[in-house]
Amino acid sequence: MTHHALRLRLDSLALQNNWRWLQRTAGVTAGAAIKADGYGLGAVEVTRLLAEVGCRDFFVSTWAEAHALGPLPEGAELCVLHGVGPDDIGAAIGSRARPVLNTPEQVARWKSEASDRPCDVMIDTGMNRLGLRTDEIDLLDGLDIHTLHSHLARADEDNAMNAVQRDRFAAVAATVKARRYSFANSAGICLGTDYAFNLVRPGLALYGGVPRIEAAGHISQVAFPEAEIMQRRIVRAGETIGYGATWRADAHTEAAIVNIGYADGYLRCFAGKGSASFDGRTLPLIGRVSMDLVALDVTAAPELAEGDWVTMDYELPTAAEASGLSQYELLTGLSERLERYWI
Ligand SMILES: *Cc1c(COP(=O)(O)O)cnc(C)c1O
Repeated sequence: MTHHALRLRLDSLALQNNWRWLQRTAGVTAGAAIKADGYGLGAVEVTRLLAEVGCRDFFVSTWAEAHALGPLPEGAELCVLHGVGPDDIGAAIGSRARPVLNTPEQVARWKSEASDRPCDVMIDTGMNRLGLRTDEIDLLDGLDIHTLHSHLARADEDNAMNAVQRDRFAAVAATVKARRYSFANSAGICLGTDYAFNLVRPGLALYGGVPRIEAAGHISQVAFPEAEIMQRRIVRAGETIGYGATWRADAHTEAAIVNIGYADGYLRCFAGKGSASFDGRTLPLIGRVSMDLVALDVTAAPELAEGDWVTMDYELPTAAEASGLSQYELLTGLSERLERYWI
């Protein structure tokens, strides 16, 4: 097999334990949002690992994502959050997955093409993203609704809008018949069990994101970028490193040039902020981020040599704070060039 100089180590037990904590905290069944290829980690493997611990409900965005998953684990159910657009009906009818219908047009399309099949429905309770308005729910008459959904706009904040959305959804749930009602994402789970209804749909927190303070200390990092050292070099006092010569050595410095850069999703906003770790020591990033390379100050790690590996510091809340990127962007931005491997 071809050698990769860049990998993404993925911790199966952390993923499974994060899901368990979310389900326990919600006090109801927890599914998993696996859109965007499992937030960049690999949806097939994420699905397999979560099914192993009892997760049954999986959510992708599109029919292409549903198709790419291939056969699902025994007992698993799949929902397509973007519903059925004009060009999706063939894929939807040929699939085991249920659409989450979002618009009056989608509802009409499902009624005319697949009225005998169950579907899910998204109700908009204030976000004004996808979903039927609460005054459009009479359009749902005649549908076999499996799960009725809504989605929170500000669950990561303490804001009165959360309870307003919850109460609107509870009112809709009291009038629209469905087998289950689902409302909370990762942050919504942290808001309390009155946000849980029958099924929760965490994404970010499964993968190590900390959506709210209540989850800190319970959610563990899942994804660890690891990069190989291409060169170890001496930088003399007064010399600079990298494009723009933005970093200058005050004193004799030892630098490691490692195989990760912005084309891998390790973006330029990490310049002056990022770091890697080796054997308990922090190795600060020095100079700019290149397309495929960054420089680390390895003066404190004299034993590190070409061909050795370092782990980039990528604990999501910390890395988000340092880079100004969101925890979601940090995960989904990691490129295909990182070889994913699960431990
Ligand atoms: C992505 C998504 C989720 C998961 O959200 P997180 O914030 O990642 O937990 C849940 N529900 C819907 C409708 C989504 O689009």
